[in-house]
Amino acid sequence: MTENSEKSLNNTFVAKGLEREHNRRKDPDWLARKLNDPETFFMPIGQSKVLVVDGEAPAPVLLNPKEFARYKQTDSAIFLGERKGRAYFAVALDKNEFGAFEGAGQFRDLRAVAPLLSRDDGAILAYAQALTYWHSRNRFCGACGAKNEIREGGHSLACANPRCGAAHFPRTDPAIIVLIRCGEKCLLARQQTWAQGIYSVLAGFVEPGESIEAAVAREIFEEAGVRVGNIRYHSSQPWPFPCSLMLGFTADAEDDRITLGDSELEDARWFGRRELQEAVEKRAVKLPTPVSISYRLIEDWFDAEGATRLRDIWGRHARFDKKDWRS
Ligand SMILES: [Zn+2]
Repeated sequence: MTENSEKSLNNTFVAKGLEREHNRRKDPDWLARKLNDPETFFMPIGQSKVLVVDGEAPAPVLLNPKEFARYKQTDSAIFLGERKGRAYFAVALDKNEFGAFEGAGQFRDLRAVAPLLSRDDGAILAYAQALTYWHSRNRFCGACGAKNEIREGGHSLACANPRCGAAHFPRTDPAIIVLIRCGEKCLLARQQTWAQGIYSVLAGFVEPGESIEAAVAREIFEEAGVRVGNIRYHSSQPWPFPCSLMLGFTADAEDDRITLGDSELEDARWFGRRELQEAVEKRAVKLPTPVSISYRLIEDWFDAEGATRLRDIWGRHARFDKKDWRS
């Protein structure tokens, strides 16, 4: 396994040990057997909210076919995959269906509850969130406007209009995210819309007709006026808010001049390790959620030198905010 693959496996929302069964999910008979198998689990999900059993260590509510049938039919269930021989399906709920499930658990915002979930649970919920979001935005054919019908366990949609018949497949939007170094310092910035004090690395979507390396160079220059070289891939992370694939990089700035370009950034600054540590300890600077690849990029840079681990500094800080993550 390459170093990058290992780094990606350490990123939250990256699924380990889940068999997607790409070929078997095309077989309607196999899917029908799985839908009725008493070992199968159903996960209700809707509007970025996942159903969990709350507590110090929340876990997703997993309902077997008999239990799930009390609440809703399974005809729109989306096959996620198999783990240890058990099939997992996601079922998208409309807001008016949340009430029926209240006895089974609590609906929580996935991004908020993710730091408290186990890695495997977080990964399968993120996958379910991405697929159910795609379904919610593709009820009708983008080519002719007729209704779409579910195929392949929810991994494709077919236009019901026989004169069109277009097939549609789930979309993932590639976005680059970059830790930029200049000597011993790294560049962190904040957007006006973020919660007070949060600083993070720079990010942006890859545009059509653009390589990811070109997107890195363009975004950094557009947002901060910084020219970069030595662009190196770090790791990737599925980020289902709503449907991105984050492609993490490091890069070196040609010099330390910053010129805020488009109106996206409110501030951008170079931080040395000690300076960042002091700012975080004084709570003058907050870092992104520890489940994000942005946090991982900052952590890898910070931890590469010196004995202090970013986790120890930010961990103390982050405990203050755990209650916020539950919202
Ligand atoms: Zn159509």
